[in-house]
Amino acid sequence: MAKNTKKTDAPVAQAPRGGLFTYAPAPESPAAAGDIATSYGHFIGGEFVDSSGSEALKTVNPATEQVLAEFAQGTGEDVDRAVAAARKAFADWSALPGSERAKYLFRIARIVQERSRELAVLESIDNGKPIRETRDFDVPMVAAWFFYYAGWADKLDYAGYGPNPRPVGVAAQVIPWNFPLMMLAWKIAPALATGNTVVLKPAETTPLTALRFAEICRQAGLPKGVVNIVTGDGRTGAALTAHPDVDKVAFTGSTPVGRSIARQLAGTRTKLSLELGGKAANIVFDDAPIDQAVEGIVNGIFFNQGHVCCAGSRLLVQESVQDEFLEALKRRMSTLRVGDPLDKNTDIGAINSSAQLSRITELTDAGEAEGAERWSPSCDLPGTGYWFRPTLFTGVSQAHRIAREEIFGPVLSVLTFRTPAEAVEKANNTPYGLSAGIWTEKGSRILWTASRLKAGVVWANTFNKFDPASPFGGYKESGYGREGGRHGLEAYLDV
Ligand code: NDP
Repeated sequence: MAKNTKKTDAPVAQAPRGGLFTYAPAPESPAAAGDIATSYGHFIGGEFVDSSGSEALKTVNPATEQVLAEFAQGTGEDVDRAVAAARKAFADWSALPGSERAKYLFRIARIVQERSRELAVLESIDNGKPIRETRDFDVPMVAAWFFYYAGWADKLDYAGYGPNPRPVGVAAQVIPWNFPLMMLAWKIAPALATGNTVVLKPAETTPLTALRFAEICRQAGLPKGVVNIVTGDGRTGAALTAHPDVDKVAFTGSTPVGRSIARQLAGTRTKLSLELGGKAANIVFDDAPIDQAVEGIVNGIFFNQGHVCCAGSRLLVQESVQDEFLEALKRRMSTLRVGDPLDKNTDIGAINSSAQLSRITELTDAGEAEGAERWSPSCDLPGTGYWFRPTLFTGVSQAHRIAREEIFGPVLSVLTFRTPAEAVEKANNTPYGLSAGIWTEKGSRILWTASRLKAGVVWANTFNKFDPASPFGGYKESGYGREGGRHGLEAYLDV
């Protein structure tokens, strides 16, 4: 296969404004991503195979708009083949003692660690996220998830689901583009540990690390058909989630698509878990340590360009500290470096796709049109690629679209409150309920507030902290089912 290992025209990271110090460029080499083929088929039954159709899609580097590779648009027939391969593999895989399945998961985790630099660079190139995040967060999380669920594989009798809990069967898993490899690990690790086999469809803008993971499955000697990867767009996803021979569907993505899958599966025996959108409130009380809270707010919304379902996209700040807090926040935002995702000093990389950039632009324009006040630090954006400045909206009312809809970009909407009760009421005034943050120095206030927030995860004096042992999931339109921890096993067990 012809290879595409050309160097990219890397965009330049912006130096912080007004400071005494600037950073020298510290670029990671794109060559560390290893060989990227010019075109890819699917991974079915342990082999890389061609699609039965002729349609191909392209994945681009969002920081340069350079095409990285072509990949197959999975057809209904491809999905049939993958589900049949998973079904065939299920009998032997589910009959293996848990301790034997664990060995494969441990092996995958170790290979992910060994190949961590390659995976981090590949993810950064395909997704646009900063190398600092893929290197220090995404890839370590992937390994941690496999290690964690490897540990459960031989202890399922003690997980609280009765003696000898049985796997569900074949799991169809559809994942989004914001944490491609990490979402894959969240789905595949618990499914395999519990004895299921899987067919996974990555997002159309970020298929490369899932295809590289297929190589890792082969390297780990995973039995054929236990993991199958079928690429393609939403049509492939729909063919997979509607397939009559899957026993379980796990979906992470937008609420409208999640809703359509729930409708599709209503009344069938197929088990479903949904991890959908969010519009999290990050509540800052007047006694919060300002600098620490500013760091948390910045991490909460600008991490991963704000492409985070649990992003703290609504800041609720107590009115008495509003001016002081916003001044400190703007000062901190002015030091954020936007640019080359492969530069180790970059804080905010590229927006994942032109479609997502248009969506962010449309919503932020609506914010201005509805009367909110927009502010961004001055920073030059690279000429090619998809970029969006870190943006703050003040004077936001609860009725504004930017306070209600998931923007999924580096955009923070600021609302104020006077009393704790008002903070809780405003925080819960959303159709979503995935996460929330509380900033205060009083433990009693944390407990009082947390117990009233309708959110699956509540962080106190921190934000965006994840651990494989901790369950994650939503209320209301943010979905149902939990991923992570002992709770995450339930989605893949016949209980
Ligand atoms: P989608 O929900 O469309 O995509 C998520 C995954 O589902 C992708 O793999 C997608 O394929 C696939 N898919 C699309 N349509 C169907 C279908 N009918 N049946 C089964 N699978 C399907 O999200 P988008 O990528 O379009 O993003 C739109 C918005 O959704 C974002 O702006 C953001 O607000 C939100 N979002 C939320 C996420 C979260 O984690 N909560 C993650 C991603 C997006 P394909 O990639 O080919 O479209």
